[in-house]
Amino acid sequence: MLVDSQSAIFELQNFDIELDSVRKRVTDHPLNGEIKLADEELNVASQDLEQLERDNSVLDQTIKRNKGELESLRSSKEATSAKVYDGSVTSQRELESIQKSVEFAAAQIDDLETVQLETMEQQDVLQTKLAQASADVEKLKLAKGQLLKQLEQDTQLAEQELVMLESKRTKLAAQVESAVLQAYDQMRANSIKNPVAKVEGGMCSGCNMALAAVNLDRVKRSDGTSPEVCDECGRMLFS
Ligand SMILES: [Zn+2]
Repeated sequence: MLVDSQSAIFELQNFDIELDSVRKRVTDHPLNGEIKLADEELNVASQDLEQLERDNSVLDQTIKRNKGELESLRSSKEATSAKVYDGSVTSQRELESIQKSVEFAAAQIDDLETVQLETMEQQDVLQTKLAQASADVEKLKLAKGQLLKQLEQDTQLAEQELVMLESKRTKLAAQVESAVLQAYDQMRANSIKNPVAKVEGGMCSGCNMALAAVNLDRVKRSDGTSPEVCDECGRMLFS
């Protein structure tokens, strides 16, 4: 094996490890965790807001219904009162009955007005909460948006860096003997991050195990056309 090719495969390995760390900056960005948290917070706040909106719409309906009822009670009270003066009443008994009806209606109106006032006060309190909840949701949306923007910027930078690194890698890989490169890429694909190792003091630098004499001998005799591997870990060995 050519010395140049041998040094190139180690250079390639160091380079690939650096490349992994740049790729990791995209996949394992710490902002991903923050964005997930921001999303959860936003979901909770949105649900609170929706609940308040539903409560508010129930109060709206109650107020509208009370208003209609009050209008009909008032007009029916007026109509009853009018009978007293329209000359249609012929007996004292009838007059008393009409007056009782008018008093009853007045009491009903009073009660309903009290209820209406309380409901409107409830709605005032609710609408203050609603405004606060709505502002909270907007704030959380903004914060999440900023995190997403930051992540996008970081990802873009890392991707630009990756494009540059990939083209450097292609040049570097071209200097490695094809059989070695093929075996190396295969092992990388199988998640072995450092497929090439050196023999140091009779040990494999990849797994730090002492090599058997026959294994050592094979590495020494190797001409490099097909890479010798460590009997312990399977990494390609170079002396
Ligand atoms: Zn090994």
